[in-house]
Amino acid sequence: KKGPSGPSPDTEAVLDTGDDFSCSDRLAQELRGALDRGELMLHYQPQFSTESRHIRGFEALLRWHHPKLGFIPPDAFIPIAEQTGLIVPIGEWVLREACTTNRLLQEAGVEPFVMCVNISAVQLQAPFFAEHVLSILKETGHSPEQLELEITESKLIDSWETALHALNLLHTQRVRIALDDFGTGYSSLSYLRRLPIHLVKIDRSFVEDMLHSSKEKALVESIILLARSVGIDVLAEGIETEAQLECLRRMCCDCVQGYLLGKPMDREVLWSYMQRYRQEQFNPVT
Ligand code: C2E
Ligand code: MG
Ligand code: MG
Ligand code: MG
Repeated sequence: KKGPSGPSPDTEAVLDTGDDFSCSDRLAQELRGALDRGELMLHYQPQFSTESRHIRGFEALLRWHHPKLGFIPPDAFIPIAEQTGLIVPIGEWVLREACTTNRLLQEAGVEPFVMCVNISAVQLQAPFFAEHVLSILKETGHSPEQLELEITESKLIDSWETALHALNLLHTQRVRIALDDFGTGYSSLSYLRRLPIHLVKIDRSFVEDMLHSSKEKALVESIILLARSVGIDVLAEGIETEAQLECLRRMCCDCVQGYLLGKPMDREVLWSYMQRYRQEQFNPVT
């Protein structure tokens, strides 16, 4: 099942040429079979506790390697998966795969980590979302306390009641909930008020600007204080420099994640990374 323009050697060329409609049409068609053809995989990026300097968990990040189009970034195909509803079966696969990896880590004798999985608003509103999550936990033998669902503020949530019901049910079953890209949407505070949130992830854009702008820095500090005052943990994402890490440590940010500390890795690289982490007590947070 080839797209209308035939195979192309280069992703950028395919994504940039032609009008958006035919391009996303083609991607939608290709995405439909991607799961069955085994083209999707997860990469795992470590998250660290700032104080103990230990790994607190991993974020599972979806990757699509198309045999002809090459690597297609999630920002390019997740919206299409959402529009077509494919995000529901893909999202279930992601959850199962991430929980399985975390189980295997534990079976290898590694201390329990939190596995963080990104969840789209479309998934949250699909019927029986919470039930599906719980059955995947059961099936994979993964404990609910070690699963953290990352949700993003979204105007797409038009069925608040369904989403709220699902998250509350998961919360009562001890699944953790994180608010991703915090500060970039329109209703961050109302999400904090209405949802059972355990962790707030400060968006990378704040961290990027923090050292050059006292206003951005003050905003980061305020988010940290705000979250702490209501008993919610804070993680800053997109740490790329020692200076950013040091600044966040001084502001008592609980956890950090970013290229400086560890890039997203496939399962194989993850195994060797964990071996080094355990044996040599190697630790990127110094
Ligand atoms: P996100 O959840 O906010 O994930 C963080 C993104 O920042 C990831 O991009 C990660 O690779 C990148 N990142 C991490 N550290 C750094 C850093 O130090 N510097 C820079 N420049 N970037 C860093 P990625 O993997 O391309 O994912 C993009 C977005 O796609 C994610 O943003 C998330 O919204 C979405 N996504 C990824 N996987 C899934 C999935 O399984 N399901 C859903 N629904 N969405 C997903
Ligand atoms: Mg995320
Ligand atoms: Mg984010
Ligand atoms: Mg994002």
